[in-house]
Amino acid sequence: MILSNYHSHFNLDDGYGELSDYAESAIERGLSIIGVSPHAPLCYLNDWTLSEANLDAYAASIPGFKADYEDRLEIYGGLEVDFIPGGMGPADVRYHSLGLDYRIGSVHSIEDTSRGEHLSVDGPLAEMELLLQETFGGDIKALVRRYFELEMEMLELGGFDILGHCDLVKKRNIDNRFFNQDEKWYRNEALQMLQLASKKDVVVEVNTGGLSRGATVEVYPSRWMLEHCYELKIPITLSSDAHNPDHIDYYFQESINLLKSVGYGEIYFFSKGQWRSQPIL
Ligand SMILES: [Zn+2]
Ligand SMILES: [Zn+2]
Repeated sequence: MILSNYHSHFNLDDGYGELSDYAESAIERGLSIIGVSPHAPLCYLNDWTLSEANLDAYAASIPGFKADYEDRLEIYGGLEVDFIPGGMGPADVRYHSLGLDYRIGSVHSIEDTSRGEHLSVDGPLAEMELLLQETFGGDIKALVRRYFELEMEMLELGGFDILGHCDLVKKRNIDNRFFNQDEKWYRNEALQMLQLASKKDVVVEVNTGGLSRGATVEVYPSRWMLEHCYELKIPITLSSDAHNPDHIDYYFQESINLLKSVGYGEIYFFSKGQWRSQPIL
């Protein structure tokens, strides 16, 4: 079985280590293909994405990086692009004119109109609480609805290959601090988004990045969502969202077993410009 990972960061965004460290780790662990996907620069100040200056430098470094590992590892250059209504998104022409191989579309933050800022559901617990209290007046249903609504707007606009960590809104919900995924209202919001994803030409990733960084006790998306993905015939790929070379295949075998247990018999990988399926072994 070809093992691949298309979601990883490095020291030009919020990851640790050089591109070559990720390649060496992938070879050591038996991966055949890797893609790197630093965060595209945001339309507001932050400390976790590529800088504007580094975006071009990153894209320009990819052909040489591929050549360095030609005989040992298939390498692709991608970007993880945020969707910010009126600001930026994976459909923007600029992300398609850099000579890169693919894009991950992700929603990390929600606009806080009262503050004129964007607050992240991926950041510290205090930031999630601020977002909930200040932007949504404590209404968690409204926050969750807005999160999935943003993903749906991004899906409608398209321009990306992989839908990134599609239930990231649960990241700070340890011990059901904010909501219970078993409740009907939550399931309806998430399911609407998956139904739309199934009609678009995108691959959903099983993302193990919450687990490797100790933030979650399960992958993105949750098992019950993967069961719906299977029913909706949504193609799946495995992603570690590695921010450290040692995590390049974190929790992959467990995720493969999880996919098998929900019924999946195949998994998708990207190679030579195309997404293909292979049986899960
Ligand atoms: Zn992300
Ligand atoms: Zn990421």
